Amino acid sequence: MWFIRDTCGIVCAIVTWLLVFYAEFVVLFVILIPSGDYMYSAINGIVFSLLAFLALASHCRAMLTDPGAVPKGNATKEFIKSLQLKSGQVLCNCPQCGSIKPARAHHCRVCKRCIRKMDHHCPWINNCVGEKNQKYFVLFTMYVALISLHALILVGFHFLHCFEEDCSSSSSTTMTLLILLSLEGLLFLIFTSAMFKTQILSICTDETGIEQLKKEDRRWDKKTTWVNLKAVFGHPFSLGWASPFVTPDQGKADRYQHMI
Ligand SMILES: [Zn+2]
Ligand SMILES: [Zn+2]
Repeated sequence: MWFIRDTCGIVCAIVTWLLVFYAEFVVLFVILIPSGDYMYSAINGIVFSLLAFLALASHCRAMLTDPGAVPKGNATKEFIKSLQLKSGQVLCNCPQCGSIKPARAHHCRVCKRCIRKMDHHCPWINNCVGEKNQKYFVLFTMYVALISLHALILVGFHFLHCFEEDCSSSSSTTMTLLILLSLEGLLFLIFTSAMFKTQILSICTDETGIEQLKKEDRRWDKKTTWVNLKAVFGHPFSLGWASPFVTPDQGKADRYQHMI
């Protein structure tokens, strides 16, 4: 199983889980259950919990999926011979992990490996975002943005209700919990929706974060937006695009790219 032993990343990943549990607790036990409205509580409680579950499942898959690591130390004479290179073909060798670096792979200092189509190393998921786990990372940012928005709307309705009916009896602990949830929701809504937008743009243009930063010359084929999306989320388009439990069939997406 793939797991990066990086203290900072492990702490950030645990904090992420605790923040989602905190939001779930306040939404259920401070806002919904005490509201007394059975239907309102049931519908919102189910939707919020489902989105929170999908966010945590995406987080697990993003963290525990190999992002596309290149085999370590494969830059041996025998391996290079077996590649049967044409004369004039140049190979890049990574001095840090002793691997033959495929095009568009980059070495990550935290993972101590070369990662195919590395976008960036994200401490919140304690992993690199690369070719094989980008789908889960994008879903993670999307579901966190959705639960943040949902939490903010619920807090908004809660306070609106207080203007109509006096809530001065609610304790200062309740108020503190609600204010903290609003701050958390606002902060994460801004952060994750910006990240989601950046990721989708970089997938559609088929240019990773590192390639954009380095302003690298494009040496790979330009494909359509739809083909680029399928290369990350799988082919063909289905509901599975939104599910962290469906592994995108990149083999099929590759064959599809060659067909057109
Ligand atoms: Zn390397
Ligand atoms: Zn990394």
